[in-house]
Amino acid sequence: MSKSKYRNVHVDGILYKYVVGKSYVKIVGPNENELVERTAISIETYHGELITTPGMIVAYIRGQEINASSFFKECGHADAKVRADPYLIEIEQITIHRLLCNNCYDIVAEDI
Ligand SMILES: [Zn+2]
Repeated sequence: MSKSKYRNVHVDGILYKYVVGKSYVKIVGPNENELVERTAISIETYHGELITTPGMIVAYIRGQEINASSFFKECGHADAKVRADPYLIEIEQITIHRLLCNNCYDIVAEDI
């Protein structure tokens, strides 16, 4: 892990640096370094991909729970899973993850 790959994040006025690896996230604080299993600081998508955002790093440092509904726009139905919005991938070529149930996912896909 080279130093240049570290990203800065401020939590309540304190600077932390972190780097996201394949299996672990390294967090460097003012007084200590911490190596965290990536699954503990990420959201897993419907397709088994791990997403780790700066907001999740902040939540982890603050000791908050990392819930998908706190980080992704949700359709509000019970069986929603984190998935890339199919319309945005196909038309805009950008990947935005949302919490969509099967039904809402199909509705978005039908708009293409
Ligand atoms: Zn839905």
